[in-house]
Amino acid sequence: MTFNNVSKELLEYIQSKKFLAFPLPFANILIFACVIIRAVNLFIRMDPTITTIVFYLFFLSIVLLLAKGDFRSLAIGLGANAIIILLRMIINGFIGVPAIIDIIIYGFLAFIAFKKTPIKTDAPVIENAEVKKCSNCGSVVSENMAFCNDCGQKI
Ligand SMILES: [Zn+2]
Repeated sequence: MTFNNVSKELLEYIQSKKFLAFPLPFANILIFACVIIRAVNLFIRMDPTITTIVFYLFFLSIVLLLAKGDFRSLAIGLGANAIIILLRMIINGFIGVPAIIDIIIYGFLAFIAFKKTPIKTDAPVIENAEVKKCSNCGSVVSENMAFCNDCGQKI
């Protein structure tokens, strides 16, 4: 079973459950909101009920993003969470093993998500690889053309 199959089955399951299908389109907003609240919580201590709810919403958004295959948002959310745990350790001045393990896990997962993020193929890459241009007028010419269609320059 490949990862894509798992992702697809997860998505089908989520779409069949109303309460899970509802937040699916906002999964990226949800993870960013959770991360922001967790970051604010570093400086302004919030009610434990709120932080607990945010904690579960954070994991819900991870599952939803996995199902959607939105690895870009996953990488940002997980990476930001690793940074928040690191900041909390610095602010508290206490280096705990569980926190270090958390940072490694979230950091590693963020790295995997980042690696699965589709890379945008920019025009210059294609230009260098395939597209050849006329040395005189700059219009696109193919390898098998003897002369430029636009200006007649010998290729
Ligand atoms: Zn030309």
